[in-house]
Amino acid sequence: MPTHEQLAAALDRVTDPVSGRGLIASGRAAPPRGERTVDVVLDVSGLDDPARARLEADVRVTLGALPGVEGVRVAMTAQRAAAPRLIAVASGKGGVGKSTVAASLAVALAKRGIKVGMVDADIYGPSQPRLLDADRKPEAESNKLIPVDTRHGVPTLSMGQLVAPGQAIAWRGPMAGNALTQLVDAHWGDTQALIVDMPPGTGDVQLSMIQKHRPAGAVIVSTPQDLALIDATRAIDLFNKANVPIIGLVENMAGYACPKCGEISEPFGRGGAEAEAARLGMPFLGRIPLAIEIRTASDAGQPDIAPFAAVADGVANWLNR
Ligand code: ADP
Repeated sequence: MPTHEQLAAALDRVTDPVSGRGLIASGRAAPPRGERTVDVVLDVSGLDDPARARLEADVRVTLGALPGVEGVRVAMTAQRAAAPRLIAVASGKGGVGKSTVAASLAVALAKRGIKVGMVDADIYGPSQPRLLDADRKPEAESNKLIPVDTRHGVPTLSMGQLVAPGQAIAWRGPMAGNALTQLVDAHWGDTQALIVDMPPGTGDVQLSMIQKHRPAGAVIVSTPQDLALIDATRAIDLFNKANVPIIGLVENMAGYACPKCGEISEPFGRGGAEAEAARLGMPFLGRIPLAIEIRTASDAGQPDIAPFAAVADGVANWLNR
């Protein structure tokens, strides 16, 4: 059976009639999937019907000639915005600053020119409407929600926009799943990356969210305490089991930044999360101090992005890799 690399190389030997380059090099096709039966998705925008048919035949003949390939399925799409890639921001327990990290990361990515949206999947304690100043009710069009625009350039959807503030949300499993699907399958337009502020912990809602919506990657937020790291390890396991790559670990509330002199003291010691990341073989994205400005900026709906620069760079590099 051909490897994925061999399949991709074969597909790239077929020439794109417009650019004269290989189908993959020209962006006309994504790397094929499958083994015995190979699936190819062709973007046929700009080609007339005979050209589409010729291209399809070329692809079938070329891939069908590889030893071990028994069938070739070709799907043709006219160019349309690709679905955004989901980046889950998760933690093993509540109160570690997951929502704060998610909001600042989203705004920092938007500042870097990435089209980013926010899905607040923390349906039991939705805080993104406040953090991103997005507490208006979303409109709907053809049965899909339209994300609420924010002054930070991060369109946002949250259950917090749909229910009265302070109202306890007692979702049971299936209802929670449906509610989350409405937030993810919304009119996201040409959004490239959707930051998903996950509910804290590793229960059924988290698992079904991951299985149903397949995040492209996950950012794990932890505080320096060992206990939080044990919890974080559970969150990491949840993504590992679902084969979702971990983009990296963020250590939040790592040391206390003195509001008077700026000096950082470290009551929980230093380097625990970084060592844990190394032990688990995953990137360490950065350390955010416990700082009053971070909390007051959050409360004011104006995320403080300066302390999150390294985290945002890490995620931007991962997206562009
Ligand atoms: P989670 O989403 O993990 O429950 P939040 O993001 O809601 O946590 O943060 C919990 C509280 O801690 C909020 O009041 C938030 O403003 C504050 N907070 C989070 N990170 C920091 C930080 N690095 N410095 C100061 N306060 C923080």
